[in-house]
Amino acid sequence: MRVCSICLDGFRNYTNFSASFDPGVNVIWGENAQGKTNLLEAIGFLSGARSHRARGDRELISFQRDQGTITAQVDSRDRTFLIEAQLARGRRRKLLVNRVKLKTAAELTGIVQTVLFCPEDLALIKSGAAERRAFLDHAICQLRPRYGEALAQYHKLLDHKTRILRDWEKNPSLLEVLEDFNEAMARAGALLIHYRAHFVGKLAPRAAQIQRDFSGDREELTLSYQTVGTVRNPLGPTVSIYEDLRAHQDSHRRAELEARSCLSGPHKDDLAAWIDGQPARQFASQGQTRTAALSLKLAERELFEDDTGQWPVLLLDDVLSELDAKRQDFVLNQIRTGQVLITCCETDRLTELGKVMLIRDGELI
Ligand code: ATP
Ligand code: MG
Repeated sequence: MRVCSICLDGFRNYTNFSASFDPGVNVIWGENAQGKTNLLEAIGFLSGARSHRARGDRELISFQRDQGTITAQVDSRDRTFLIEAQLARGRRRKLLVNRVKLKTAAELTGIVQTVLFCPEDLALIKSGAAERRAFLDHAICQLRPRYGEALAQYHKLLDHKTRILRDWEKNPSLLEVLEDFNEAMARAGALLIHYRAHFVGKLAPRAAQIQRDFSGDREELTLSYQTVGTVRNPLGPTVSIYEDLRAHQDSHRRAELEARSCLSGPHKDDLAAWIDGQPARQFASQGQTRTAALSLKLAERELFEDDTGQWPVLLLDDVLSELDAKRQDFVLNQIRTGQVLITCCETDRLTELGKVMLIRDGELI
């Protein structure tokens, strides 16, 4: 899979930009605040029509404009696709593939898959469980549409149940439907746990191997999926996960009513990480943190390739800082499969790698 070319019109600081990319490594360099991350963001947008940092389309459209477009030519599954995203202020966005309008953004993930690493991803190791759940959710959604459906349904139910638990004292009749919500949440939740457990089961050994290669065999990264305490076997059949979730809900019923919040379910899951047996969240150094976050992403990329037979486009934003020379060398020389776009502020070490593009003030120089 590769992005052959892209045109940006009214996207972030790009007013009229076009560029073509090499099928291998592409180095995007320039000074701070010139548009390097914006360019990766636009490419990331091609998979699933979402940005890793904008909260809405409004942020993506250039300040002085009412609309913005991303147009890209992509090779995937031995075919060529023309993808167009039209963003407009105060109107719904339009997504087209080969000039045919898509019904949902999820249809795009069947065409382009990207794995992005950006400095914010250090939070994967250092922040709370929410970041790691978001990582799992985003990755599995790209691979399994059914997971995306179950996730959306679970969140809807969770919102509703949270409101019931918040308001039941004022309005006790709400409790009549609480059981129905528990039942539906356990059904959707069992699917989430099933998919997450299988995904982590494959991710963990890959990430550990990458961390070893990255660190010259010095570091052992251990990942483990942590879910609702009563679930005996997250890898087992969904019916038994469902029963275990029901048992947990029953034993937490009183506590949930008292706490007025939803205490039981996979919305509290975590993907715990240790380096050499120590919890990475507390003890990893800056370089180790970056290495581990990147190992997770590179492992995710391998799982995509296993699953689809194609390497997703790898977007590496500002990945080299804080890494020592050996680890930088790993990033620059060991990732040799699939298309890679990497941003940096200097090119001393990068010139022999592949296509080099200089970006200045939203233009290709
Ligand atoms: P750094 O090396 O510091 O990470 P960068 O090249 O990655 O820099 P970007 O994050 O791509 O920089 O941002 C470039 C510029 O784009 C910023 O100065 C920002 O103000 C501008 N920008 C962001 N959103 C918009 C927008 N909607 N319209 C116009 N300009 C924008
Ligand atoms: Mg940047």
